[in-house]
Amino acid sequence: MSTRVEIDHRKGGTSRIRHPEKAHRPDNPIARKPDWIRVKAPNHPTYHETRALMRDNKLVTVCEEAACPNIGECWSQRHATMMIMGEVCTRACAFCNVSTGLPNPLDEGEPERVAEAVAKLGLRHVVITSVDRDDLNDGGALHFARVIQAIRATSPTTTIEILTPDFLRKDKALEVVVQARPDVFNHNLETVPRLYPTIRPGARYYQSMRLLDRVKQLDPSIFTKSGLMLGLGEEKMELAQVMDDLRIADVDFITMGQYLQPTVKHASVARFVTPEEFEDYGTMARVKGFLQVSASPLTRSSYHADTDFAQLREARNKRLKEAL
Ligand code: SF4
Repeated sequence: MSTRVEIDHRKGGTSRIRHPEKAHRPDNPIARKPDWIRVKAPNHPTYHETRALMRDNKLVTVCEEAACPNIGECWSQRHATMMIMGEVCTRACAFCNVSTGLPNPLDEGEPERVAEAVAKLGLRHVVITSVDRDDLNDGGALHFARVIQAIRATSPTTTIEILTPDFLRKDKALEVVVQARPDVFNHNLETVPRLYPTIRPGARYYQSMRLLDRVKQLDPSIFTKSGLMLGLGEEKMELAQVMDDLRIADVDFITMGQYLQPTVKHASVARFVTPEEFEDYGTMARVKGFLQVSASPLTRSSYHADTDFAQLREARNKRLKEAL
């Protein structure tokens, strides 16, 4: 049996294994993608400008680290999702392509550099995410708050969406982030509870759900959002249950997209969900009362986040008017 190990060459010079904890696992062959998942190679001039700006400001993006298939489309519209607190994650989820290991100390200059990049990109709406930082006492909550404050100071009309870790066992961390008042608080459940032990072993379903619920309790004006990857082996009834749980937590926006296996060391795709099934799941979510739903094979948390945010705000205003 092959024991291929993925090496990161992106730093030029010091090559290192991206996922040391997965290196000795048996290979899972990568299934051929169906026609509806094909994307174009990125070559638009604005794609290269966005890339250069990220490099110049020494910023990390989840678009690159997670090997997102939408990078050509998003970056040609200057929509890059910056990943703060480094490029090394302290968790080892079976689906994720972000490097794992012991991260470096926080970079105190990062909030200002992120804010500068947002201003240069001229974004109406920005999505900021991070690696998990279980090594920090507050899980990186204060750093998130500083990034939000820095963006507000330089781009006051830009709306801010954050996609955070679960802050598991980090008392009072969530409150620090909520007090910085992002416009959208996103935390992805990723999959159904039955699959947590294999797909998200370091996380707890109840903690993630409680986090989303608590954001709404602390500040009901903040939109809440969560995402699921489909094609990991979940059943329709399980998805329906997760949707119901999210609605009980008053989550406004749900995203659903196809899981794609990054390397032979990651979890296999159980099946490719068809575009028609995604439409059916989208209808199911709308019926359950979400203000905004995005469900398609290439949907990702931050895909089309700016136009989706405009629709989300409109949908809330409409619902408030109807309630009068
Ligand atoms: S969908 Fe999100 S992560 Fe993927 S390229 Fe677009 S902005 Fe980046």
